[in-house]
Amino acid sequence: RSKARGRNHVTVFDPSMLERVNRRVELEQGLRRALRNDEVSVVFQPIVDRSVPEIEGFEALMRWSSAGVDYSPAEFMDIAEDSGLIVSLGEFVLSEACRQLAYWRRVIPGGEHLTMSVNLSARQVQTSNIVDVVASVLESYQLPGDALWLEITESVMLDDTATTIAVMNGLRMLGVRLAVDDFGTGFSSLSYLRTFPVDRVKIDRSFITEMTTQPTSAALIEAVVGIGRSMELDVVAEGVETPEQEAHLTKIGCTRIQGFLYAQPVSADHVPELIEHYARRGSDGSFAANSDS
Ligand code: C2E
Ligand code: MG
Ligand code: MG
Ligand code: MG
Repeated sequence: RSKARGRNHVTVFDPSMLERVNRRVELEQGLRRALRNDEVSVVFQPIVDRSVPEIEGFEALMRWSSAGVDYSPAEFMDIAEDSGLIVSLGEFVLSEACRQLAYWRRVIPGGEHLTMSVNLSARQVQTSNIVDVVASVLESYQLPGDALWLEITESVMLDDTATTIAVMNGLRMLGVRLAVDDFGTGFSSLSYLRTFPVDRVKIDRSFITEMTTQPTSAALIEAVVGIGRSMELDVVAEGVETPEQEAHLTKIGCTRIQGFLYAQPVSADHVPELIEHYARRGSDGSFAANSDS
């Protein structure tokens, strides 16, 4: 129909395209067997509240390792989503994360208020009975709803607004709190913070990365922190890597921080020592983070 597709149009076969398709098929087949083969695991990255200053909780992040190869979510999350495999993978992460959280709340001194954040994908929100799933996981590990945060990106929220709002309300009835993930990367305006029942905003890493060099990114962060304050929303800065970024965030009143400056995601067995490490250094308020790790 367009000029480019007219009678002079020549289709050039691109072998790299076939490679990409094959690779995708291969990954999907592998991912289909991943849970059964015990190849999926969960790692945990602390979210620190500098006003305390201690670890307030963790974000659970999925990992897949097959035949000695580690795949990052960037490589397999699209496939997991498109194939629908994300529903069972996501349930596994949710259950694993809650199981660990319940254990840490029980055994770690001062750990009874720790929270867990779990990412929800569009598929999970729109096609699975996610409210029932969450309710039953909380029930099996005897966790109160407010122990759990669920993270949803802006694009999920805009996909099917009516369904999403219904699901979000159902989750909140359980006491579960909701966070907007990767905030600032979508197309939507700030007004949907009123439309959707959210309790927290996580400012996308890209803004934090540019914060000290791009005045527009710094301005956006400051605006979000201000809106958070007036709407009584938590604000978390994602991907904080340098002391300069942290200092800047502290200056504008953003106290909740997640990033490599504090810790990379770690496996469950490293969590207790991480908590102890931050609890100890809390007293003098200083955070020369990762200096001894
Ligand atoms: P996200 O939910 O925004 O998670 C934060 C990502 O940023 C994680 O990447 C984390 O390792 C990374 N990160 C944290 N701090 C820093 C930092 O200081 N510097 C840098 N360079 N990166 C940092 P990860 O684990 O690779 O996950 C990527 C994305 O995959 C997640 O982004 C999330 O959207 C998705 N994902 C991961 N696990 C799950 C899951 O269980 N379910 C669903 N639906 N999505 C997941
Ligand atoms: Mg997240
Ligand atoms: Mg994010
Ligand atoms: Mg993300």
